[in-house]
Amino acid sequence: MAVQEKIEELYQEVVRKNPGENEFHQAAMEVLQSLGPALVKYPEFVDKKIIERICEPERQIIFRIPWRNDKGEVNINRGFRVEFNSALGPYKGGLRFHPSVTLSVIKFLGFEQIFKNALTGMPIGGAKGGSDFDPKGKSEDEIMSFCQSFMIELYRYIGEYTDVPAGDIGVGSREINFLFGQYKRITNRYESGVLTGKSLNIGGSMVRKESTGYGVVYFLKEMLNVLKENVEGKTCIVSGSGNVAIYAMEKLEQLGARVVACSDSDGYIYDETGVDLNLIKQIKEIERGRIREYKKYHKESKYIEKGNIWEIPCKIALPCATENELNGKDATKLVKNGCIAVVEGANMPTTPEGVKVFLEAGIAYGPGKAANAGGVATSALEMQQNASRDSWSFKFTERRLQEIMKGIHDLCYSTAEEFGAQGNYVKGANIAGFLKVAKAMLELGLV
Ligand code: NDP
Repeated sequence: MAVQEKIEELYQEVVRKNPGENEFHQAAMEVLQSLGPALVKYPEFVDKKIIERICEPERQIIFRIPWRNDKGEVNINRGFRVEFNSALGPYKGGLRFHPSVTLSVIKFLGFEQIFKNALTGMPIGGAKGGSDFDPKGKSEDEIMSFCQSFMIELYRYIGEYTDVPAGDIGVGSREINFLFGQYKRITNRYESGVLTGKSLNIGGSMVRKESTGYGVVYFLKEMLNVLKENVEGKTCIVSGSGNVAIYAMEKLEQLGARVVACSDSDGYIYDETGVDLNLIKQIKEIERGRIREYKKYHKESKYIEKGNIWEIPCKIALPCATENELNGKDATKLVKNGCIAVVEGANMPTTPEGVKVFLEAGIAYGPGKAANAGGVATSALEMQQNASRDSWSFKFTERRLQEIMKGIHDLCYSTAEEFGAQGNYVKGANIAGFLKVAKAMLELGLV
């Protein structure tokens, strides 16, 4: 059977076995589509059913989370942890708290995480978890109560050598700290390496907060280097205004770019002279407010409720909010407006139609699984520091992050070239990540 036919058959099997899980199907398709040349070179992966095995999580845990709100009312949410693949190391991947969380969303994220983690070159497997709990509008006591109930169930599945969760949408260091506190209490173990993204006082790493956003910009910088371009002086837009977006904007600014717009799920702000990042941090990180408040302080800026941020002309666009936030039409608009690079901070933010537009236009397109790997890589550095009871300086840790991002970029670039797709970072990332995991799986035997 021809390789493409085999891949289509494998994809149909994923759809059949996981009915209704659209996000997971999309993520699986995106990876499988790239793997043809790798399967031709390594037919043993077909014989040993490596793809069938990779598409089936090693373990899927779904559980009930009862908790009380400030009025004493009982609430019930659903929790997930999908431990996808541990060929390269303990399961590793974030927890997402957002009302849109379903098993399908967690499986798409967990699947992506396998290849992303492999690309970092660190010894970590892939997993993801979370809950349909909505942290918006909840008091700190409610958040703590929820996190404690979540951990009462989760603790039995995690451990520094087993599974190491971290943050994602709706889960920052505050939530990780509450989760860690409860884990410590239940197990009576100060096992720092069981969760990453902790605050500095309790074993967190310097640069973890900044790492995903900074890493995205380091990746962008490497891509632009190849094109003999640089970031300085370029007009940029960044979607979202959460952890990834804020620190992507910070690094862009440090490198001399001008960020003119960012957003949240209500709308976007446009500030032609360059956004005031300290104000955005104040609104988002300290007050936990909405991006519309920016206009109160900068009257000359614009706030567009429910606006489409991709309509703003720019040279560089970084989608840093959520999946499928940039579609084919948006991509066409960006290319028409002269955008030269799109690098993803979020996971799978561009729809398949959008990806096609970018690849056909030949602009620099950096897929999330490579470009946003700086977060998990720095989490792995946090694990190293915890294991050796050490803590590194900001400067040293940032240098490690920068080296890792350069390594990921170069690996994606050279793999794309080796497999006949020069400049195609989608193929480069998928094939390079897959090969690392597949080779390890073969060596481990049928487990
Ligand atoms: P945060 O919760 O800190 O911020 C998320 C941002 O995206 C907020 O501005 C939020 O707006 C916006 N957003 C979320 N959901 C939607 C939606 N459905 N529609 C429009 N806007 C939305 O999360 P992070 O910054 O940590 O994560 C952002 C992305 O980066 C995610 O895709 C995540 O998986 C990915 N990522 C994160 C990593 C990390 O280290 N944190 C590592 C690698 C990837 P609002 O407040 O209105 O909801």
